[in-house]
Amino acid sequence: MTGKITGGCLCGSVRYETTREPVFQLLCYCTDCQTISGASGYAVYGVPIESIVVTKGSPAEFNVRADSGRINSRRFCRECGSRIWAQLDELGFASINAFTLDEREHFQPTANHYPDSAPGWCKIDQTLELFPPIPRDQ
Ligand SMILES: [Zn+2]
Ligand SMILES: [Zn+2]
Repeated sequence: MTGKITGGCLCGSVRYETTREPVFQLLCYCTDCQTISGASGYAVYGVPIESIVVTKGSPAEFNVRADSGRINSRRFCRECGSRIWAQLDELGFASINAFTLDEREHFQPTANHYPDSAPGWCKIDQTLELFPPIPRDQ
């Protein structure tokens, strides 16, 4: 990968960039991600938190306790409501919504996360590996 990865929300109020290779790329089927995104599997482009630079606007923040017990700080556009990323401060990584990337082909999911919590009608690609739930004390 060369150069910057850029992206932003639906209305353009918030723009960001990152120069880092993704640490993981997965589809998250957890209930929180489904509720907030409306997607069957939320497209997660995982990068270190510090690699995200907001270049325009400032996303709103909503903190929620995840199944793992960690606080998941979800960031979204206060104008259009687009979910842009979520970050786990304890672990130091952020899950960028891959559908906010300008070049969506950069996203190449390799794993499913929490597939067992999805409703039965969700089509899950079983050829992808399982990205296990991360235990609280590891
Ligand atoms: Zn927006
Ligand atoms: Zn999730």
